[in-house]
Order: sequence, then C-alpha cells, then structure tokens
Amino acid sequence: MSVAENLQKLKSQLPAHVTLCAISKTKPVSAIQEAIAAGQLDFGENKVQEMSEKQSQLPSSLRWHQVGTLQRNKVKYLAPYVHLIHSVESWKLLQEIHKEAQKAGRCIPVLLQMFIAEEETKFGLDEAELRQILDHPELAGLTGVTIQGLMGMATFTDDEKQIAKEFSGLRKLFEQLQGNYSGHPSLDLKTLSMGMSSDYQIAVKEGSTLVRVGSLIFGERTYPA
Ligand SMILES: *Cc1c(COP(=O)(O)O)cnc(C)c1O
Repeated sequence: MSVAENLQKLKSQLPAHVTLCAISKTKPVSAIQEAIAAGQLDFGENKVQEMSEKQSQLPSSLRWHQVGTLQRNKVKYLAPYVHLIHSVESWKLLQEIHKEAQKAGRCIPVLLQMFIAEEETKFGLDEAELRQILDHPELAGLTGVTIQGLMGMATFTDDEKQIAKEFSGLRKLFEQLQGNYSGHPSLDLKTLSMGMSSDYQIAVKEGSTLVRVGSLIFGERTYPA
C-alpha cells in the first residue's frame, strides 16, 4: 500500500474531530511529499535538527509537531515555526519555550506530557508535578506559551484493557483540568494527544483528539528512533 492509500484508510476510520498527525521521523522528504499530495498537513518529528531540515525544504503551510524529548538548548531552532510541542515535562522547559517564543514574536502552543504507562522507560509528569506547573504563580507571566492540553503514551502491551485504562485515566484528568482551570490566561485546554499506530483505535474510543501515527502511514522504520 502507498502512503496515500494508508492515509486514506486511516482518515476514513477517524472521527472528524480527531486530528491525524503523521509521524515522519527517519523518513525522507520524498515520503512526506507523497503525504502532502494526499492532503496531509500535520507532521511530527522527534529530533529538532531533522525537523528543521525537512521544514526548510517543504511548503511553509505544513504544521510541524515536536514529539519526544526536547532539550532546552534546541528550543531556539524550532521556536520560529513549530505548530505544537507535545513533550513539555518541566517548568524549566516551559520557561525556555516562552523565552524563545518571545524572541520569535510568537505564542507557542504546548502539551504537557503525562506519565501514564507501567514502564519506567517512558517519560512524563505525574499528577503532582502537573499541578505544580499549572498552579505555578508565574505561569500567567509566560505569555509566549499556551498550554493546549495533555499528551500520554500507553504501555507497550497486547493487553487492550490495560491500554484503555491508561488512556481513559488521562481523559478523566484532562476533563477535570478543563473544569478546574477554565479562564486561566495561559490555558486553552482543547487537545488530548494519545494513540499511535498500535493503539490509536483504543485512544480514539477513549477520547483522543489527536493521534500520532508513523509506521502505519510510512511503513516500519528501518532504524530505531
Ligand atoms: C515515533 C512516535 C510515534 C509514532 O509511532 P508509530 O508506532 O510508528 O505510529 C508517536 N508518538 C511518539 C511520541 C513517537 O516518538
């Protein structure tokens, strides 16, 4: 199946309110161009240098998503163009994004990445750390960022019940925050980023508004990323 066919199939399964972000890490610009030709605008990468190289070669109308660990010293490279940063897991990173966004004359939308899996390997905030950021007295002063929602990665397992439980827990937390923090100037809680190739169907059922799908669109990656 071609990239276009894969995209078409996926889109036919997703409800209209769910954004499909095509994760193009490790894949060549030509593969992204195939997806663009099929109408895809949202792309995600996990390495800033790779994203910036691709961004500079492709139409400026694309929406670039940063997923995965983001080092503070790399924020300046993506600040001028990034559409959404999915992986904020510290106050310091949030401050850095604010600073670079101001330099770029922008306000950058971000998601706070939550730790919801059983594995120790996946990073993200726990609920106490999340509250520390949301209740930080200086948050409203970070005018270069808008916290647009939460992101989470489920445990890598065949146990669909386990995955559903983790996603549903994140959705409940998201809904709680929407109630608790409505009207906060730094928050516009509308995006719940959960689900990838192996579990996007469960994620959508559990309330995801944005799925991050790579290998189902572009094929398996030949080296780990
Ligand atoms: C690579 C990656 C994805 C996509 O993974 P697939 O299994 O190829 O769909 C989604 N989210 C993040 C954070 C990733 O790093």
